[in-house]
Amino acid sequence: MTGLDWMTNALCREVGVELFFPNQGGESAAMNAVAKGVCDACSARVDCLEYAMRTETGSRRGGRHGVWGGTTPEDRDKIASERARQRRKERKRERVV
Ligand code: SF4
Repeated sequence: MTGLDWMTNALCREVGVELFFPNQGGESAAMNAVAKGVCDACSARVDCLEYAMRTETGSRRGGRHGVWGGTTPEDRDKIASERARQRRKERKRERVV
C-alpha cells in the first residue's frame, strides 16, 4: 500500500468534491455539516485527516482549505495547535528527566 492508496476509498469521490471544496465565499456551515456527515461514513477518514495535517501549509488564514477527514480548516487549526502544545509539553518533560 502506498501513502495515497486511501484515496481509492474516498467516499467524497462518489458525492462530488464540490461539497468539500466550495468556491471561495460559497462555504457555509450547512455545507460543512453535510460534508462532515459523509466523512463520518468514510473508511479513509483517519488517513485523509493525517494527509491534510501533513500537506497543508498549516498557516491560519489561507493555508487550509476544504473539509478533510471530517474537519474544517478551523478544526484542523485547533488540532495543529493541540499537537504543537503536546510536543512542547513532551520536550519540556524530556528536559526534566
Ligand atoms: S474523510 Fe471525507 S474528505 Fe476524506 S476521503 Fe473520506 S469523504 Fe473524502
